[in-house]
Amino acid sequence: MLAMNNILSKWIPVSETSRSLSLVYSGLYLGLVTGLTFSPFLISIWFAPWQCKGILSPTIQIPMEHSSEEEYELSDSEIDEYKDTIYAQLRAGKLKVRYGERTFRCPFCLGKKKQDYNGKDLLQHASGIGAAPKRKAEVRAAHLALAEFVKNDLASSLEPSLQLAIVECKPPKKEEEKFVWPWMGILVNVPTDLKCAISVRESEDRLRSQLSRFRPCQVIVKLDSSGQIDHSIIKFSEDWTGLEDALAFEKHFVVEKYSKTDWNKINCRKDDLYGWLARSVDYNSPGTIGEHLRNIGILQSISDRERKGTDRRVAHFIRQIEETSEHLKGLELKNYKNSMQLDTMMKDNDRLVDEHNEKIRKMQEDVRKNYWKIRSDNERLQQELETRREEIRQKHEKFEELARKSNIDKAKIKE
Ligand SMILES: [Zn+2]
Repeated sequence: MLAMNNILSKWIPVSETSRSLSLVYSGLYLGLVTGLTFSPFLISIWFAPWQCKGILSPTIQIPMEHSSEEEYELSDSEIDEYKDTIYAQLRAGKLKVRYGERTFRCPFCLGKKKQDYNGKDLLQHASGIGAAPKRKAEVRAAHLALAEFVKNDLASSLEPSLQLAIVECKPPKKEEEKFVWPWMGILVNVPTDLKCAISVRESEDRLRSQLSRFRPCQVIVKLDSSGQIDHSIIKFSEDWTGLEDALAFEKHFVVEKYSKTDWNKINCRKDDLYGWLARSVDYNSPGTIGEHLRNIGILQSISDRERKGTDRRVAHFIRQIEETSEHLKGLELKNYKNSMQLDTMMKDNDRLVDEHNEKIRKMQEDVRKNYWKIRSDNERLQQELETRREEIRQKHEKFEELARKSNIDKAKIKE
């Protein structure tokens, strides 16, 4: 049964699968009826049809079922080929997709719960399954073909939203505005009342105090060939607060109507300072301002700056990590040395304890030996004493004997 399902899934187009399955299953019963009807007749004229079937069926079935377990996957080139075939079938109308004015069904997912789609959903379904890596290659290929069919052949007759969804138009990316960095402001129409170089510094100081609320870091006054002030550059701090100050500086001139646009008007008033933030236009301009800016700054967009800031922070963190790991290595070395020292000390301690134990053991042995020696000496002396005492007693007895004898002899003599 498995083998048969596998063969059908491989050989029969998806749209014909259900029909072929019903044909095959009805064939099963047809076979049963025919077989049972004719088997008595076969048994009567021939040897054993059932034994024959018993021997034959495993030899046919096992290899086929075995092959069904091996998943056959289409290769990349085959996927394209298969997709093209399905696409051609869809275009030729062999696979039915449209089931109404705006109702469609996926011809490869018939029998699934959700069947009716509008055009947009069908496209979503087809491209979703077409891109799903877990699906079988042929299922993906079929759905990719369907997505192509919806896009190329159905879109023209569908709702405008689908056409909008298909036409993927991305707005052209606007190039990011670039500023001169360190952030700088440009001042023009600076009044000239200069006689010598010392006055240049005075003029710079005056401008600086005049613009003090924008916290300028430096004011540079540039003279032209005739000794008149050509323009002045205001440098702000290099960080983000510098940009804030620079923008505030520009805004001030815009509000006062002394901005760059106002300066560029043909009949602008020449009664006061005009100022703006230095941008790429100024940087690349051919005049003295452009030259000056190119000498002292570079062009950068905000995101460049942010990236550099991030890079700097990353570098800082990397440095910190390196320092920490260096420190850690030092600590590890120290720890290693300490543990070595501890090890030596422990060994020394063990040795000392062993030596001490050995000494104690020897002392105990000596004491024991001495004890036994003293005891044996004592016993020997006791014995000796005992022997002497016996000797003395015997001598004493002898002496008494002699005394008695002599007394007797004395008495005899007297008599
Ligand atoms: Zn489908």
